[in-house]
Amino acid sequence: MTDTRIISEVMPVQQPLLRPAKLWLPKRVVFTPDALDEPFGQQIYERVSALNLPIEVSKNNRITGLRGADERETYRIAKNTLAVVNAPPSAFRLQPIPPSADWQMNLAEGCPAHCQYCYLAGSLAGPPVIRAYANLPKMLANTASYEQPGRQTTFEVSCYTDVIGIEHLTGSLAECIRYFGTRDEAQLRFVTKYNQVESLLDLPHNGQTRARVSLNAESVARRLEGGTASVEARLQAIRQLALPKELGGGGYPVGLVIAPIMPIPNWREEYTRLLDRLAEALDFECDMNAEFISHRFTPGSKDVLMQWYPNTTLEMEEATRAEKRNKFGGRKYVYRPDDMQTLKKFFYEEWRKRFPSAPILYWT
Ligand code: SF4
Repeated sequence: MTDTRIISEVMPVQQPLLRPAKLWLPKRVVFTPDALDEPFGQQIYERVSALNLPIEVSKNNRITGLRGADERETYRIAKNTLAVVNAPPSAFRLQPIPPSADWQMNLAEGCPAHCQYCYLAGSLAGPPVIRAYANLPKMLANTASYEQPGRQTTFEVSCYTDVIGIEHLTGSLAECIRYFGTRDEAQLRFVTKYNQVESLLDLPHNGQTRARVSLNAESVARRLEGGTASVEARLQAIRQLALPKELGGGGYPVGLVIAPIMPIPNWREEYTRLLDRLAEALDFECDMNAEFISHRFTPGSKDVLMQWYPNTTLEMEEATRAEKRNKFGGRKYVYRPDDMQTLKKFFYEEWRKRFPSAPILYWT
């Protein structure tokens, strides 16, 4: 262990907090004319109207008025705006997304939550407005050409948004679940930090959707994951999703994404507590697996995050990290190999102790 931050200190473990996520109600909803021409765009329009949210229709297919005087104000304006647009032609050329899934298909881009390590920082260009796609049914039909006969091809829809964070406004996730429920060789994967899963429980998913929640240590979630459901509320949500239908649940295959894992001062105690609570919440037979993702950042994401959250307590010290380069020369900072090994060993051992028949898909 080379990094003193990883040494466990005796600190009180915070008691779990059962707090649902606050439903996101944007201050501004803008539809483009193209989006309103789509039947699914009309459905979103009706949903948003029923919530009495202020609606505009833009003159052309561009969304303007998102810039404030500085980055903080731009952030505030954009995070309070839902734009309903058509996905561009490039969105129909799917990108591979290993190790999480075969392909990514984005039903929206931008997220209403406020995680101070947000994965979107530096990935999406421009103000962090939430764009939902009105031509989603066409995007779904397009996925059929990516299916590979004879195996389950997986499609990830949560790379650039929190799909449940916007579901009450769009119904997009339900649309995806129903579509994949009709496919024999394609599986949908989504992940969320929200807990509002009731509307998903009765959908005809036919076992073709893996519902996942993202979890973290209690103190990380409280300190860094603004606008999301508490960890305890997420645990209740995954229990509901996994419970068999005859017991009132959704009967979904489920997944647990522990991310981003951080060697906070009392990390062993905190993550032990998390895994213990998970074992209590999922105390019945179900189809589940796990993904473990350690924290990382790039120079670009750090720069954007420091503008969005100038007072953050998130540790992003290059000097304590290992630098990795991708094939295009881009840099990212991950934990040093020894630290990474210590964390990985802990999670693999503790997971297998509690969930011997639930595979670990990967550590990264
Ligand atoms: Fe970013 Fe995901 Fe948090 Fe949304 S839930 S703010 S996409 S890290």
